[in-house]
Amino acid sequence: MNADIDHVLIPEEELLRKVEELGKCLARDYSGRGPVLIGVLTGAVVFISDLIRACRIPLSVDFMAVSSYERGTHSTGVVRILKDLDRNIEGQHVVVVEDIIDTGLTLSYLLEALQARHPATLRVCALLDKRGRRRVDLQLDYVGFEIPDEFVVGYGLDYAGLYRNLPYIGVLRPELYASEEG
Ligand code: 5GP
Repeated sequence: MNADIDHVLIPEEELLRKVEELGKCLARDYSGRGPVLIGVLTGAVVFISDLIRACRIPLSVDFMAVSSYERGTHSTGVVRILKDLDRNIEGQHVVVVEDIIDTGLTLSYLLEALQARHPATLRVCALLDKRGRRRVDLQLDYVGFEIPDEFVVGYGLDYAGLYRNLPYIGVLRPELYASEEG
């Protein structure tokens, strides 16, 4: 295990099993509808890469990058689109693929922006859900794991740009990050 990791929260095999399951659910629900899966950069890249291979129906993939204006480590809900979609999603069946939903402020803004483009349907598939921290009411249609309020890295999730390539979800040793929460 990486020496910066305090403990593994979700091991690799468990992640892959769950992603396979989510892919099958999407394939069942979107069969014949040619959905567009939108990965939110950069955290969702590992998840979406495994997810689309587990979803064995015709589909397309696109990416968006957003940045939240933050005060310390607190999300403010004000979001800027850094990279927009390459396609028009009007009339399309859209699934937003997210790594983790925390307060929900970022996703809530994103959904509003996407809804304004009139997709036929708009749903969310999130690998991790920190439900206890939610500040807005959100419906997550597909969720991998509900997790406690701990700062996690790995499987696409970073701290200061690192740890995205760990094959599991782990909790960083607290002394390695200066939390401004509280
Ligand atoms: P929200 O707007 O839901 O509060 O923020 C969601 C974003 O915060 C995620 O996309 C992710 O970038 C970041 N985030 C929230 N919790 C964690 C965590 O435990 N680990 C990491 N690496 N990022 C997190």
